Amino acid sequence: MSSILIKNGTLIDTNITRGDVFVDGGKIVKTGDCSDMTADTVLDASGKYVLPGLVDMHCHLREPGFEHKETIETGSLSAVRGGFTSIACMPNTNPVIDNPALVRYVCMRGEEAGYARVYPIACITKGQKGTELAELCRMKDAGAVAFSDDGRPVSDSGVMRNALEYAKTFGLLVIDHPEDVSVSGDGVVNEGANATIAGLKGISRAAEEIGIARDIVLAETLGARVHIAHVSTAGGVELIREAKARNVKVTCETCPHYFCATDEEILSYNTDAKINPPLREQTDVEAIRDGIKDGTIDVIATDHAPHSAGEKNREFDLAPFGTVGFETALSLAYTNLVESGDAEMTDIVRLMSHNPAKLLGLPVIWLKTGARADIVIFDPEQSWTVSSKNLASKGKNCLYDGWMLKGKVTHTIVGGEIKY
Ligand SMILES: [Zn+2]
Repeated sequence: MSSILIKNGTLIDTNITRGDVFVDGGKIVKTGDCSDMTADTVLDASGKYVLPGLVDMHCHLREPGFEHKETIETGSLSAVRGGFTSIACMPNTNPVIDNPALVRYVCMRGEEAGYARVYPIACITKGQKGTELAELCRMKDAGAVAFSDDGRPVSDSGVMRNALEYAKTFGLLVIDHPEDVSVSGDGVVNEGANATIAGLKGISRAAEEIGIARDIVLAETLGARVHIAHVSTAGGVELIREAKARNVKVTCETCPHYFCATDEEILSYNTDAKINPPLREQTDVEAIRDGIKDGTIDVIATDHAPHSAGEKNREFDLAPFGTVGFETALSLAYTNLVESGDAEMTDIVRLMSHNPAKLLGLPVIWLKTGARADIVIFDPEQSWTVSSKNLASKGKNCLYDGWMLKGKVTHTIVGGEIKY
């Protein structure tokens, strides 16, 4: 393994310092002044930010079963292009990841691809059917980092109660997709004025908030922890803020599209703006930003959800939900949170690297001697226009196609090797 010297960067983890980073043998050997050292590769990071590798705790890599949308190889390549060195993928594949052999399969395919580190999230329930718990401990032993039936909620509260109780006993992380499907029904966009204008069926915020409230009540009753996926509403943020104030063991994530975009995007019937939970309104965007600012929101995850062009180029009601997200996430966070003054770069590191790593039980990367050399170099001055056809992901369903963003990942190093 060759050595790398990153020179003259602004190093950002919990603090901001200036200097060099010397990497050898997969680890950070020295930071600060490394001018006396020579390396096989020298990267000039003048004017750039050097960050710990990003960790995405919510993405869809579609393999096995939906390789026409994405594979573990194309997905993890797309991830490193966005600065993600570790990604945790959801189990709603075909077959669903609900047994140890399939957990091992995903780990193996991730290693074969050799881009980002790929960590499987396994199903809470057998067949993701929501009725009977899967063998969580055996899947944890096989490499699962968390458990979720994402794509759908665990609708039966008794089953969720059992899952949280079991997870508490064995120290596992359960991630719930909060949605009362009897309320969301066959809605396709946020319920509100824009749904009415577009003539599309709405999904009430109540569908998500009932799910969040249910999970909080169960976690509080059991003294168990729960992680809420993709929070999108002002009311959802408030429920979690209040629960945290009562010391309920609840954590949550949001996604870039919930602090960057509103449901005005659906007025053009752009199916890349069809996402679940749906894009909401400006008041929700503001509340999500406030939740990021005051620490109610723990994590920014991508919910990278690739689909084929054929699937998305259908009438709005029939198109699948989701946008891709790896290659734009850090630039969106920089443009919409840091440039706007809502967050510091140290907050971005906490939300996109340290907190998700802690929740998943992965090593937390500081830019310090001895740390695993998972590193991103980000140029805050580079402006660029997103072009979905240039994405490494197989999914070209990108909500941000044509958007001008500030700041771009220039290099991603995983375990001391330059992967992008
Ligand atoms: Zn979900």
